[in-house]
Amino acid sequence: MQNYTDGYTRTCGLIGNPVKHTLSPLIHNALAEMTGVNLVYVPFEVEHAAVQDAVKGAKALDILGLNVTIPHKSAVIPFLDDIDPLAKGIGAVNTLVRTPEGGFKGYNTDMTGLYRAIREEGVDLSGEAVVILGAGGVARPAAFISAGKGARKVYILNRTFEKAEVVAEEVNKAVYELGREDKCTEDGLSAAGEATDYEKIIVPMKLEDYKKLYELEDRFIVLQCTSVGLFPDVNSTVIEDEEFYTHIIAAMDMIYRPLETKFLKMAKAAGAKIVSGLKMLLYQGVDAFELWNSDLDVKISKEQADEVYKSLVMEVTGAANIILEGFMGCGKTTVSEILADKLDIELIDTDEVIVDTEKRSINDIFAREGEQYFRDLETELLRTIVEDHWRETVISLGGGLPMREENRELLRRAGKVVYLRTSPETVFDRIKDDTTRPLLQTEDPLARIKELQDQRREKYEQAADIIIDTDALTPEEIADEIIEQLGL
Ligand code: NAP
Repeated sequence: MQNYTDGYTRTCGLIGNPVKHTLSPLIHNALAEMTGVNLVYVPFEVEHAAVQDAVKGAKALDILGLNVTIPHKSAVIPFLDDIDPLAKGIGAVNTLVRTPEGGFKGYNTDMTGLYRAIREEGVDLSGEAVVILGAGGVARPAAFISAGKGARKVYILNRTFEKAEVVAEEVNKAVYELGREDKCTEDGLSAAGEATDYEKIIVPMKLEDYKKLYELEDRFIVLQCTSVGLFPDVNSTVIEDEEFYTHIIAAMDMIYRPLETKFLKMAKAAGAKIVSGLKMLLYQGVDAFELWNSDLDVKISKEQADEVYKSLVMEVTGAANIILEGFMGCGKTTVSEILADKLDIELIDTDEVIVDTEKRSINDIFAREGEQYFRDLETELLRTIVEDHWRETVISLGGGLPMREENRELLRRAGKVVYLRTSPETVFDRIKDDTTRPLLQTEDPLARIKELQDQRREKYEQAADIIIDTDALTPEEIADEIIEQLGL
């Protein structure tokens, strides 16, 4: 990652609230490094009342460009010097670009990014029926770009019908005013055109009436724009009926946590082409980066975009794993079972995976092959978890696994690590009768526990994102504490 700045460094950033979990710095700082553009990207948390000041300040500081995210995408518009007609049409901007006069012009690269994402995946909207599920902030640009890119019909299905009606009416009006195809050139950022017979393009419907679609259209493209299925609610989708999915040609879910939502899984199982919302996030960033650096003629290739996408996938999937570490007897097994149950996600125990794969006990592996061999198996398993992008899993770690520096590095990429810290006395009390622990086959187990804990404590702490003292807590309370601290 580029880690220097000088007097020529271009500064870009993000204004929104909250911004702490944004993936945009990853996108832009990676693109800067790849293209050799001397640019840094920084998130700024900006309160609603301070939006005008933030824009003014950015001008004064000669900030090259800004992204704008929730909740300021519409609020920022009055403070701009110019606005792209498409962004004006949907009443929301997410990218500010300097004008030659030193002001800011607003664009909406959420919309162009969505289009570029589906186009890169070989999905063509032209002449197709498009079904949009949802009528919130992201459904609007989805409807707009679909109509603008020549969809034959766009159906907006929403739980609250009135909202679907409003979005359909507004987008119809905007598309009408801007003209269809002519306004939406290849990069989606463009010019004037003929008015069109808009009322026939966008149709609002009640979500519960989705079966009526089949009478109107046999096959359609679906853009999933509701928040149903977002992590940790990963076992939900807005339409559960399998028949619906058999009508889908191609499906995109705007949700990217998890990377493959239940909606996408069902569409894929029914034979549809699928596109993750993470591609939209990627290309809204790529489009913004190109706009900011158009004076340098920067164009991001598919290969470069794919490279950034890999990092995004790592980030999104890695963050979704919850990894429990701690000394034997700290309660990892019980707590991980409760956690997996509460969050309704998969659970693995690294010791159990190794026992299953080797088809023998850990005691046996230690006795025959030695500790080193067992530790190598642990590292190998961890590498698989990271490289195969395992996600949405509670992972209970063998007690000695985080001792290797290489393993701690892998853990950082694999997910959020929770250290369950437990006193030696509590550990002794819990495991004194357990004969399956090879490291405790000694005359004075308590002294051995103290000695091992002294050796391991620092490493556990180094690996941990969160530390929980467990002595006074029940497993249920520990699980609740983890959920609270991870904000799940
Ligand atoms: P929003 O404005 O809050 O709209 C949420 C939509 O979901 C509404 O249409 C709402 O219907 C519907 N909904 C919520 N719960 C529902 C339920 N239980 N059953 C049926 N419908 C339900 O959200 P948004 O800003 O449009 O974002 C939607 C999703 O897109 C978010 O989860 C976000 O993660 C994702 N997103 C992705 C990107 C990207 O770059 N990939 C960008 C922005 C957003 P009602 O109107 O009836 O309440």
